[in-house]
Amino acid sequence: MTAAHTGGCRCGAVRFEASAEPHHVSYCHCGDCRRASGAPVSAFVGFITEQVAFTGRALKMFENGPVTRSFCGICGSPIAYVDERLADHIYFMLGAMDMPAYFKPTHHAHVREQLPFLHMPDDLPRHLKTSVPRPSDGTQS
Ligand SMILES: [Zn+2]
Ligand SMILES: [Zn+2]
Repeated sequence: MTAAHTGGCRCGAVRFEASAEPHHVSYCHCGDCRRASGAPVSAFVGFITEQVAFTGRALKMFENGPVTRSFCGICGSPIAYVDERLADHIYFMLGAMDMPAYFKPTHHAHVREQLPFLHMPDDLPRHLKTSVPRPSDGTQS
């Protein structure tokens, strides 16, 4: 497999690679991502799970409802999340990618939860809630 894109954690114990282009790049303003990342806004790069491979044994998981977030068990860097309602998809933290500047977000998700002092003057589409419809949700905006 020729890796199209690679990434990893701060300390290097977790590495991953994706063999294809992402299907999704977006900002997320939701409170759950904010807690998980510690940052006022997160950004994610979505791939099809079968096109992604991990190396190393440091990856830890934290499950919260349908969403499972992964992080490095050594340095604590957030790595990715999967949502059981979105089978076959994995969303990496944009900052975990080796070439983060390559992944330009195309929209904002969950802007209803955006922090009032955070101003991002771009013309990207803004979704009040999720930008990816969940089958059980039915409230795509
Ligand atoms: Zn690490
Ligand atoms: Zn979020």
